[in-house]
Amino acid sequence: MWCNLTLFYGSFPMPKGILRYSLAVTTKPKTAPFETLPALEECVVNCRKCPRLVRYREQVARTRRRAFRDQEYWGKPSPGFGDPSAELMIVGLAPAAHGGNRTGRMFTGDRSGDFLYDCLYRAGFANQPTSIDRDDGLRLTNLFITAICRCAPPANKPLPSEILNCRPYLAGEFDFIHPRAVLALGGIALRGYLSMLKERGLIETLAPYPFRHGASYTLPGDLPRLFAAYHPSQQNTFTGRLTKTMFLAVLRQIRSYLNRGK
Ligand code: SF4
Repeated sequence: MWCNLTLFYGSFPMPKGILRYSLAVTTKPKTAPFETLPALEECVVNCRKCPRLVRYREQVARTRRRAFRDQEYWGKPSPGFGDPSAELMIVGLAPAAHGGNRTGRMFTGDRSGDFLYDCLYRAGFANQPTSIDRDDGLRLTNLFITAICRCAPPANKPLPSEILNCRPYLAGEFDFIHPRAVLALGGIALRGYLSMLKERGLIETLAPYPFRHGASYTLPGDLPRLFAAYHPSQQNTFTGRLTKTMFLAVLRQIRSYLNRGK
């Protein structure tokens, strides 16, 4: 498997979205030369570009939390998850040490996932309200979930350099999925996503798109509409900063936008 992330498109087939998005800009977008989405996700799972995160994810997988002592942790980066033909792409921050880093699937096996998937189920994007492990039968419809950083970071805080290292994966997924709407979970994810667009010359600046729960923005050209919501972390949901009513209102807003285009 070839996972060199430093090259530009050239001798490799471009994912379906890149031509459309490139019409809106003067700078040629660059991304990693992944030939297919499964090939990209295989590169993600095998990635060891960030020494601090590799050490941390593997150490957590070795030591484990008492409640999960009898389980084998995934201990690797979490690939994107969901419908490859989705119109909606959700961009989160990073897997949780004992959530995605344990189960190997985005937002699976932790409180954030309990909150998120219950809302997605109620909004018609998931076939069940729970997300326990990779074999629990969960299917997403018209939705692909990814993150700006694929390895669990200490204290849930990836370094800017680690987010940068992971950006080609986000760019590649974005091109393959070619969404009509993007929902960023939290300010760091929003800026991570916008920085990916800026780096590729698809937007000029991040300034017109500040983070605010419930915000939605039209971006230049044919880029997907951008929506923002608080991240469903325990810090936000346990304190009442983010309630299911608030999150469902954002999902309804997105659903109504997607329906308008049909
Ligand atoms: S955070 Fe991303 S770039 Fe860094 S090691 Fe994990 S998968 Fe690789």
